[in-house]
Amino acid sequence: MISEVLNANELHKIDPVFGQLSFDNHEQIVFCNDKDSGLKAIIGIHNTVLGPALGGTRMWQYNNEWEALNDALRLSRGMSYKAAITGLNLGGGKAVIIGDSKTQKTPELMKRFGEFVHSLSGKYITAEDVGMETSDMDLVREVTPYVTGISEAKGGAGNPSPITAYGVFMGMKAAAEFKFGTAVLEGKSVLVQGIGHVGESLVEHLTDEGANVIITDINEERLNAVSTKYGVKIYRGDDIYSETVDIYAPCALGATINDDTIKRIQAKVIAGAANNQLANENIHGQMLQDKGIVYAPDFLINAGGIINVYAELENYGKTEIIRKTENIYNTTLQILNNAEANNLSTHQAALNIAQGRIDARKKENSINYY
Ligand code: NAD
Repeated sequence: MISEVLNANELHKIDPVFGQLSFDNHEQIVFCNDKDSGLKAIIGIHNTVLGPALGGTRMWQYNNEWEALNDALRLSRGMSYKAAITGLNLGGGKAVIIGDSKTQKTPELMKRFGEFVHSLSGKYITAEDVGMETSDMDLVREVTPYVTGISEAKGGAGNPSPITAYGVFMGMKAAAEFKFGTAVLEGKSVLVQGIGHVGESLVEHLTDEGANVIITDINEERLNAVSTKYGVKIYRGDDIYSETVDIYAPCALGATINDDTIKRIQAKVIAGAANNQLANENIHGQMLQDKGIVYAPDFLINAGGIINVYAELENYGKTEIIRKTENIYNTTLQILNNAEANNLSTHQAALNIAQGRIDARKKENSINYY
């Protein structure tokens, strides 16, 4: 049993930046309730200037509706910036379903959720996130076309997680180039926290390149399976953040970079898949900068998944998906250099560029309109 287990309550706690809840000019929030199927969900639409709000659906056992709402607010906002920085014509949205995906997810519940998505007439397009499988999106597809991440057998681009992992790997290599002067990860020690859909695939890329990988997860069964499959070490200490490693890859849930952990983090580079890794993006982005830790912004390097599902809307194939995902390397390096040149946190530098793209489109749209 690993001794450092993140407290799920901590991961979704109310963001101190915006006061009680992380409202930040969100366009629309939809509460979905259906007693018969037991569905309780919230769809957050942050911004649709660049296009329809696309973002996955997360099923999680939140302690209360406030936590669920806050997660939908934070995650949907992140999607706006992810699409913008990646150059996709998509807005930002995200949905959360309150409940245990292992025991409470039923076909009825998924289809009812799909009907709510459909009622938004394409303003929000869903996909998978934590607690969801490609087969769940196939169920949603039965009631609405406004869903991506459906199986290849049903004409979709399939599970986005391997592409997300590949993008994270590209972003990590760019951060290594910036910090260590080489993008080669052979011999580098990398702590992967969370070896789910994305984490495991990342472990595969890392071990293929000869990195020394250490894994941690709350799921003991998976830990053993992944450790055996790739020959990687399981972390058995009692303070993962104090572990001396070159790179920390958060691939579980958000907010693992906070007041408490920053003091302990020994890694020189942080590059992982989890959304909203910084508990407070202004304060903690700056604290990492002050400590000399190179942080590859999460919404930039975990965009492989959205690139993959966007292919379903734009009808491009695997070659273009890989090309766009590999470009995460170039964008990350540009952002890291830009942050250094302008004395900004890397998160802020990425955010500025993404916001700039949204603002420019908004201006363009208003000129065309009048
Ligand atoms: P997943 O549910 O398949 O895997 C998450 C893993 O984290 C599980 O193995 C779980 O046991 C583990 N975990 C949960 N709490 C933990 C804790 N406290 N400490 C250690 N491990 C813990 O999810 P995923 O699809 O692999 O996504 C991982 C992260 O990446 C999420 O934050 C998700 O939002 C983000 N992300 C995923 C994609 C994608 O394509 N799947 C795209 C972008 C971002």
